Formats: sequence, structure tokens, C-alpha cells
Amino acid sequence: MRQSALFVRTKKEAPKDEVSKNAQLLLRAGFIHKEMAGAYSFLPLGLRVLNNIIQIIREEMNKVGGQEVLLSSLQDKELWEKTDRWDDEKVDVWFKTKLKNGTNLGLAVTHEEPMTRMMTQHISSYRDLPALTYHFQTKFRNETRAKSGIMRMREFLMKDLYSFSRTEEEHDALYVSLKEAYKIVFKRVGLGEVTYPTFASGGMFSKYSEEFQTVSDAGEDSIYVDEANGQALNAEVLNDEVLADLGLKRENLVEKKSIEVGNIFSLGTRFSVPLGLTYKNEKGESLPVIMGSYGIGPARVMGTIAEVLSDDLGLVWPESVAPFQVHLLSLGADEKATEIYEMLTKAGIEVLYDDRDMRAGEKFAESDLLGIPYRVVVGKRSVESGKAEVKKRTEKESEEKAFEDLASFFKR
Ligand code: ATP
Ligand code: MG
Repeated sequence: MRQSALFVRTKKEAPKDEVSKNAQLLLRAGFIHKEMAGAYSFLPLGLRVLNNIIQIIREEMNKVGGQEVLLSSLQDKELWEKTDRWDDEKVDVWFKTKLKNGTNLGLAVTHEEPMTRMMTQHISSYRDLPALTYHFQTKFRNETRAKSGIMRMREFLMKDLYSFSRTEEEHDALYVSLKEAYKIVFKRVGLGEVTYPTFASGGMFSKYSEEFQTVSDAGEDSIYVDEANGQALNAEVLNDEVLADLGLKRENLVEKKSIEVGNIFSLGTRFSVPLGLTYKNEKGESLPVIMGSYGIGPARVMGTIAEVLSDDLGLVWPESVAPFQVHLLSLGADEKATEIYEMLTKAGIEVLYDDRDMRAGEKFAESDLLGIPYRVVVGKRSVESGKAEVKKRTEKESEEKAFEDLASFFKR
């Protein structure tokens, strides 16, 4: 894409009221637009990153057998009353609304209820199980604090997957495969080194759940990390006597601030019993389905990458999620640079081409702010030498590469 055609402009300063680093950087770089506190829109570069994260999650959910669907975000009161989650006392972040005829509706805070009810029409026999369904769908939550930029929004996209099993054993095996899939997701998006599965309280569902927590000072949570085991504990379960059962020793634990990027829950029959999701086993007996739910917020992941991997100069995107692979800068050598842009694009490489008439210093500073993994500079000197200057965003030194070698270099 030619940068001259991009309608978005970068900004020298982030809005004064923006306190989080992720939103400050993403707003300045023109990746997002702020509607109001807790509500952000995604601009072309930001949407490319978000979609890359979504695609990685989708691929890993499909690999473990997930089937993608898309449920409505409008929720009916009667359904949520059956599980006792309509009352604001029980779920305190609801946005509620009404039809013109007075019927109460909610805007989805999560989707256990509608997904379970939908599956009652598709599961009746042991032959229909196990099943894994998921979607990427908007959640609305009336969060009290919304100071963490795109990491805590009042309207956000969640990938929520639900597992439906015949027995606890079958459920446990699926839970383990989802936990492994989550590890792969966080590795692929570039957060693997600093993200830990973390035992937390299971809340209203089970004794424990597991959060995926990324170590960062921007986090709102505190966790206790056992690095040797690659596992952590949330403060809320630190004082439980079952610590040893979890394979963790208290003296190995180091306290760190962290961001919850994902969460996996064993739900047991918490939803299947009140909503009548049962199946008939081989003997013809009717039994409740055993469930699990598994969430990730793609925008929170994006905000976390911005928090954790950025430096003093701006954003730093891992290649797996970057909006473009190459940022091509023409410094007064438009003809040659355009030729290279066309050559790389034809080779299937995603290039943002800065074809604008601007000072070199400004172009470099903006390139650092955008955080595209590779910068390629074509100037007057390179026209003579037949070489471009290639620099990785994460490195200080650049190297010269012959024009004809560029495509194969980026295709690796
Ligand atoms: P938190 O404790 O941070 O509020 P949660 O326990 O409410 O998180 P879940 O309901 O388990 O979160 O949601 C699953 C995932 O959705 C989270 O792990 C996170 O990645 C994402 N998520 C949750 N709330 C938000 C939000 N307000 N904005 C963006 N993403 C969110
Ligand atoms: Mg929450």
C-alpha cells in the first residue's frame, strides 16, 4: 500500500486524557481512533494487526477441532434467568436495553447461555459428542475502570470457545488440548516468553480456572510465577492448602504484575443442567453434558503486544501480527523505489511504501513509530550502487542488500 493513499495521519502527541501506553502509541501511530473512554475504533493499520491475531487464534482453534459459528449479541432475559445470571447482583457489568414493546434484552457479556441453548438442538446422543464451537463476537461490559486503552474496553471482540463432553475424562483431555493450543497462540503472537498459565479461582464454576497472564508493569493483576515450572498462581489462590497438589512450591514463587490475555474454565454441568443440555448414553440413559469455556480478547492481546514489545521510539510488531512486513522508504529516489515496491508486492510480500515527499528524519521517526518489522531505504546513493539499506525494527545496524536479492530475502 502506498502511504500517500492512506487516509490516516500520525500524531505528534497522544490525547492528554490517555494514560495507558498502548493507547498512547496506537493513537499516535494512527492504528486506532478513540470514540470515548473504553471505546475505540480500529483504523486500517490497526485492523490489519487485529485480523492477524484473530487469524492465528482461528487456526489454532480449528486445529483442535473447533468449529466456527457466529451467535447474536442480543440476549433474552428468560434464558439468563434460568442460570441466575440476569440479575445485576450476579453479573454487575450488564448493559441492558428494551424492545419497543417493553421486552427486556441484554447485550452479551459472554455467551455460555446462548451457546448452550443452541446446542440443545444439535446434541441428543453420545454420538454427537464431543463438540467444540467458537466464535469471534462482540461483548459489552459496563466496566467501572477503563484506563487500560484497548486492553479494557466496554465493547470488545472475544474469541470464546465452548467444549461439550460426555465424561469428565473426555472433558479433561479437551481442556489439556485447549491449554496447549493457547500456549501456541501466545507463542505465535510473540508473547510466549512472558506469558504463563496461571491457576486462579474457578469462581462460580469450579475450584480452579486457568488464566494466561503476560508479565507487564501495565498489568492490573498480580501473579506469583514459578519460572522453572512455567506456571504461575493468581494471588487469590496463593493461600489455598491445594498448592502442593498443583505441583508448585511456595518458595519458588516470584510476584509480578501481569495482564490476563486469556482464560480457560471447566464448567462442569453449571449450564447444561439448568438449560437442559443432555445426551443419551449407549444404555439409553439421559445425562447432562460436561462443558468448558475458553476465552481470548484479540484486542487485549494487541494492546499487550504494544505494552510489552514497544521501545522508546514506538511500536514493535512481531512478523506474525505486523500490519505489513516491509516499510519501504523512498528518499528522493521515487522511480527506483516504485520499481522495488512493485517487485516485492508481486512476490507476495506485504509492503507499506512511503512514497510521500517528506524529510528523511521525519520518515525515519514515523517508521519507528509504526513498528513494521523491516525498513528498506532506497535513496539516491542506492540507485548508483544497486543496493538498498535494510534494517530490522529491533536492531540498530542496517545492512546493504542488492535490489535483486530483496524478494528472496523477505520470502524466507
Ligand atoms: P478481567 O479480570 O481482566 O476483567 P475477565 O476475567 O473478565 O478479565 P473473561 O470474562 O474471562 O475476562 O474474558 C476472556 C478474555 O477476554 C480475557 O482473558 C481477556 O483477554 C478478554 N477481555 C476481558 N475483558 C475485556 C475487556 N473489557 N476489554 C478487552 N478484552 C477483554
Ligand atoms: Mg472482567
